[in-house]
Amino acid sequence: MSVPPFASSSLDMVSQLSSPAAALKHYFGYDSFRPGQQEIVEAVLQNQDLLVIMPTGGGKSLCYQLPALLKPGLTIVVSPLIALMQDQVQALQDNGIGATFLNSTINGAEVRQRTDKILDGKIKLLYVAPERMMSESFIYFMDRVAEEIGISTLAIDEAHCVSDWGHDFRPEYRQLRQIRQRYSTVPVTALTATATTRVRQDIMDQLALKQPLIHVASFNRPNLHYEVRPKPKQAAQELVRYVKQQPGSGIIYCLSRKKVEDLTQRLQTAGVDALPYHAGLSDPVRQVNQTRFIRDDVRVMVATIAFGMGINKPDVRFVVHYDLPRNLEGYYQESGRAGRDGEPANCLLLFSYGDIGTINFLIDQKIHPVTGEPLEQEQQIARQQLRQVIDYAEGIECRRKIQIGYFGERFDGNCANCDNCLSPRLLQDWTVEAQKFLSCVARVQERFGLSYIVDVLRGSKDKRILANRHDQISTYNIGRDHSAEDWRTLGRSMLHQGLIDETNDGYSVLKLNALSWEVLRKQRQVEIALPNRPKATSEVQSTGKANAEMLFEQLRRLRKQLADEQSVPPYVVFADSSLRVMAQIQPQSLDAFSQISGVGSHKLARYGSKFVEAICKFCRAAD
Ligand code: ADP
Ligand code: ZN
Repeated sequence: MSVPPFASSSLDMVSQLSSPAAALKHYFGYDSFRPGQQEIVEAVLQNQDLLVIMPTGGGKSLCYQLPALLKPGLTIVVSPLIALMQDQVQALQDNGIGATFLNSTINGAEVRQRTDKILDGKIKLLYVAPERMMSESFIYFMDRVAEEIGISTLAIDEAHCVSDWGHDFRPEYRQLRQIRQRYSTVPVTALTATATTRVRQDIMDQLALKQPLIHVASFNRPNLHYEVRPKPKQAAQELVRYVKQQPGSGIIYCLSRKKVEDLTQRLQTAGVDALPYHAGLSDPVRQVNQTRFIRDDVRVMVATIAFGMGINKPDVRFVVHYDLPRNLEGYYQESGRAGRDGEPANCLLLFSYGDIGTINFLIDQKIHPVTGEPLEQEQQIARQQLRQVIDYAEGIECRRKIQIGYFGERFDGNCANCDNCLSPRLLQDWTVEAQKFLSCVARVQERFGLSYIVDVLRGSKDKRILANRHDQISTYNIGRDHSAEDWRTLGRSMLHQGLIDETNDGYSVLKLNALSWEVLRKQRQVEIALPNRPKATSEVQSTGKANAEMLFEQLRRLRKQLADEQSVPPYVVFADSSLRVMAQIQPQSLDAFSQISGVGSHKLARYGSKFVEAICKFCRAAD
């Protein structure tokens, strides 16, 4: 067994590093494991097969990276996304760890150089694309590695790609089974963020895992703040205002390319650095926009859901869904791109009943490409998923409870980090208002839509109303005591609760049904939850906080400068969380600096003096 070349020569250090916790601080600078990591690392060190299911941001990579450093031989990591591979290797190298990758972007000479380095024992982690693994030359190379230096673990990232039940099936992944069988004594660690039992079983079968330790982490992401707001008429303006208040980077998701372009324009005009991302842009443009976002050259990415799969930006501070997501799993994954570094981040969903119509329209378009028959089962599933999204948005319960309940996990009580827990909404008895509303629908002979009814109730002098002589009916102007928005909320809520129907012919005419009559006959109560009105933020910052904030900004600039010098994303230099602690603690010596979470020995040597210098300078100026 050879001593890894990057390990310190001091014997003391080597024995100290044999403990996973010590190695965690030394190589990665972290003080403690995230939930689950320690058990997983220990099982990998015992050469067990593993299936690791952890949400995005849970810290999956460390589960195979740390054991790779502690075991003799080479750990091979299979990863489907080339951009991600590059980032990961970059981040490892930046921690002074021998890592490299092989994929189609590397030319022959470079491949040769890299494989030589591996056979020299200078590399602990090799990332490969799955299609590469099956080539004859690669198998020949792996045989040599197995013989000369040993393969310590085969780590399979995004393991759900092996399952056609998942959302991201990749045929190349199926062939991994052959690799597994060829090197049957090499333990396999499979990792994914997809939680359904079907996919889970498929991974175990397809990869022939041997009595694997199955680790299912909680899908709760406590650092994410979830919020739903009604989408106002002036939604774009509201969005600009929101984005301006947010710290750091963010993603805004919309349903259509056109809206992506519109909103990007709006944000740019308002002075926010924003770029678009959607399938209508050319590959190079998308690539450039993505890189500029990851490198913090621009703050905001406005995108369709085509964006985000396989990008690794841990310091996204907010994700806004400007349009309704199609299903809750999608919402969980997309909003989950915020705060992967574990620092606080905001997830906002703008909810509009109008969007439901748009999505329903899209669902109706799901037809068989040849026969033109509606795909009934698909439509039915899509409608059910949409219903769950609406329930989530309208719900007055803890948002977390609903979301992770979707993955079969229980969460009880108050999370203290969602809008419903922080400012609970009470159900209000609106039976009387509902009766006024329904009788107005009856008086206009069930021939009009929601806005018209609201106008009549509020006594509008609209030409149409006067022409129809609806200013003469008894329900005209009996609803002045509530805002138009409240009436609309009532109407939509009744629709959703099935207390009234709406035609599907594009005119959305309101029709009474059996339940409506029960309400009118006082046989049924109507309760609605009025939406939270976003509170104006008027926090006065204490001077201490302002001081830390100023230093944070300076350290951010220093980080960006160092990152640009090496053409890497800023988070590769230090995570936001590390900068925050630096700004709070303000360490003025290298020793104090080394205590900060995220400062490993390599980064201490590389960046320590620059950061300490900046902090000292800041402290002197503040005195
Ligand atoms: P996943 O692959 O599960 O989405 P990552 O492996 O990318 O998550 O980890 C997410 C973030 O958490 C990264 O920025 C990583 O450096 C950080 N991280 C992982 N483990 C720890 C830990 N024990 N302490 C602090 N930060 C950690
Ligand atoms: Zn909550």
